[in-house]
Amino acid sequence: MKFVDEVRIQAKAGDGGKGAVSFRREKYIDRGGPNGGDGGNGGSVIFVGDPQLTTLLDYRYQQHHHARNGEGGMGNDCNGRASDDLILRVPVGTLIRDDDTGELLADMDHEGQRVVVCKGGRGGLGNMNFATSTRQTPRFAQDGTPGEQRMLRLELKLLADVGLLGFPNAGKSTLISRVSRARPKIANYPFTTLVPNLGMVQYKDGLSFVMADIPGLIEGASEGVGLGLQFLRHVERCKVLVHLLDMSAEGEGRDPLRDFDVLNAELKKYSAELAHKPQVVAANKLDLPEAQARLEPLTKALRKRGLSVFPISCATGAGMPQLMDAVAEVLFTGRTDKLQVEPPPKPARVEKKAPAKKAPAKKAPAKKAVVKAAVKAAVKKVVAKAPAKKAPAKKAAAKKAASKRARRS
Ligand code: GDP
Ligand code: MG
Repeated sequence: MKFVDEVRIQAKAGDGGKGAVSFRREKYIDRGGPNGGDGGNGGSVIFVGDPQLTTLLDYRYQQHHHARNGEGGMGNDCNGRASDDLILRVPVGTLIRDDDTGELLADMDHEGQRVVVCKGGRGGLGNMNFATSTRQTPRFAQDGTPGEQRMLRLELKLLADVGLLGFPNAGKSTLISRVSRARPKIANYPFTTLVPNLGMVQYKDGLSFVMADIPGLIEGASEGVGLGLQFLRHVERCKVLVHLLDMSAEGEGRDPLRDFDVLNAELKKYSAELAHKPQVVAANKLDLPEAQARLEPLTKALRKRGLSVFPISCATGAGMPQLMDAVAEVLFTGRTDKLQVEPPPKPARVEKKAPAKKAPAKKAPAKKAVVKAAVKAAVKKVVAKAPAKKAPAKKAAAKKAASKRARRS
């Protein structure tokens, strides 16, 4: 099936029906009075998030979506029928924008979410509503109000927890097919994957997460080389990225560390936010001897930058549990140490803030010292008083004992 993740459509809600002008006319009933009914309300256009859908393909073919108008009012006190709303189902993860202003109208981020995007018009009042004691034959009625109309842009951003990054042929599709039930096409040529695939990974103890495999990126992707960066939007909402390195890559200038830097540079050109996402770096294809040889230099180089590398082989499954543990740790505990390729910026702000923070910090100990001193002084007083108190107590006890002895004797 074709994968479509961006469409423009026109949506229009139904107009409200006209109110009727009518008078009661019956044999033997003279001047029966106004009896024109109200018009019905027009249908609204409502979007609903549907987890069964994975693409916006349907909207590529049908681009005009009009809800029905409300029925007009009728004579004999009959109101017009209101129209049903037009329900448009979209995949969960769809953003709905106004195409003219770019305003975000809705983010369909959960199943069953309903958003009214174009409100239907209201039906007009019939002439029976306007009869008063002084105007008994109103010869007018209201028109309905028009329904809202909009050009919309629907944009699908898949909702996955983990995104796979890597050059074409790095083994991304192989990885997702190993850890989940997703079965994307796998072959030994670049750009086998042309559309994103989602896989549900069943982790331990009933925990699970969604992994997204997107087409590979290559140098110059930001200028449109290969499939460009268009699919990166599907990993924009991931909490963690798995950066897969092809350790056996052959060809001009291919080297795992260089691949890593090239891809991160492309990522940065797409969005700084994406570049700051935690990345779990995995070195793939380690079942091959030539790949093994490249592991150590890579590990050393990345360790210098404070990054750790997970050696894996998607073909044999070696190293998978460790990799999944690392991913799950970020997802379920939020810990991201040793995973920041691009440490979050704002060093300037941090420097400015630091002295400001230190100043109260300095004051605080001063206050604490004062409090401590006060406490010490108080304790001393108590200690000093205590014997004084005890002494009379002892004296009293001695007196009592003496009196007891006196009584006995
Ligand atoms: P993608 O383009 O990143 O999705 O890469 P694919 O998953 O389509 O894999 C590309 C090729 O690499 C396929 O021929 C795979 O069989 C092969 N491959 C993937 N993982 C491994 C691995 O761990 N070891 C070996 N030897 N080959 C692998
Ligand atoms: Mg693939």
